[in-house]
Amino acid sequence: MAHVVKHITVVPTYKDFVDIVLSKTQRKTPTVIHKHYKISRIRDFYMRKVKFTQQTFHDKLSLIISEFPIVANLHPFYATLMNVLYNTDHYKLALGGINKARQLIDDCAKDHVKLLKYGDSLYRCKCLKRAALGRMVTIMKGQAKNLLYLEEIRQHINRLPSIDPNTRTLLITGFPNVGKSSFINKISRADVEVQPYAFTTKSLYVGHTDYKYLRWQVIDTPGILDHAIEERNSIEMQAVAALIHIRAVVLYIVDISEQCGHTLEEQLALYKNIKPSFSNRPIVIVINKIDVVKPDELPEDKSKVIEEFQAEGEPVLEMSTLTEDGVMNVKTEACEKLLAYRVNQKMKTNKVVGVANRLHV
Ligand code: GDP
Repeated sequence: MAHVVKHITVVPTYKDFVDIVLSKTQRKTPTVIHKHYKISRIRDFYMRKVKFTQQTFHDKLSLIISEFPIVANLHPFYATLMNVLYNTDHYKLALGGINKARQLIDDCAKDHVKLLKYGDSLYRCKCLKRAALGRMVTIMKGQAKNLLYLEEIRQHINRLPSIDPNTRTLLITGFPNVGKSSFINKISRADVEVQPYAFTTKSLYVGHTDYKYLRWQVIDTPGILDHAIEERNSIEMQAVAALIHIRAVVLYIVDISEQCGHTLEEQLALYKNIKPSFSNRPIVIVINKIDVVKPDELPEDKSKVIEEFQAEGEPVLEMSTLTEDGVMNVKTEACEKLLAYRVNQKMKTNKVVGVANRLHV
């Protein structure tokens, strides 16, 4: 299964496509022929032009077909993102059109080469060559819209974030200013990369860290998982839908000091709002900024909110990215939770397979 969508070469417009191919034929095949040459030499001269043009079209069309991804083979993270930008049927039809054009051009060349074998004059051979190339250009003209469409898709595909959805991932969520990027920066090895996030003006912040000799991704999603679902537009919804396919443990960061501008009650409400999106993923709740105020120093009404967080049934950890207190513990617990979750998932799958085997299904 493809992890990351690979680089795709520019798809030219129909006019450029034809110009590129015909001028290549002009440059790469002999240009001088005389009436008094032997007819076999004249025939070869024109056959070569037809075959060369066909081969160039064939190679260029094959490149398009091989470089554009087959949606069914993509990781669901990328497949979901790509579904946002185009209708899959339209995409398949466009690629199908290109495939058909390649076939028609091959057939056209074959037919004209056959006729050229019987060409009895330079004039006749030249007419056949012209007819062949003219027909190929007409076939390509029929693909003008598909070429434009595929180029549009290519540009979108290049804007997909380059993250590996199969790598173990810590997905950081929570309101703005709760300390998400501070956390990523504390646990990441090198600089955090900013990746465009398809079809939104938002970006993903991707860091990398090591745990148990494995490479982990840490992803912050500013603007995506920091407000309530009702406030999301449909593109953001899809962006969230795509994130659900990543093998991640979700960290929900809470700012206990409320310096982020949101009360603890609001932070609990957001947690409850986004939790269902990750119902099949392990979650860790992280109380941050304990250097400002500790949970046991909170007034009664606020400490009730912390109790409510604890009642959610997920681990509740404490840290301060400022003093680095608890930061490594949060990383360890989160990574362990994902590792344990994956073992559990595997055991469940094995159980199902085991039962199925016993029942001979
Ligand atoms: P993000 O928007 O969630 O990524 O939050 P940031 O990491 O940008 O942090 C927002 C603000 O909170 C910054 O001014 C940080 O310096 C501050 N901050 C982050 N973590 C802590 C912490 O543990 N203690 C204190 N006192 N401030 C913090």
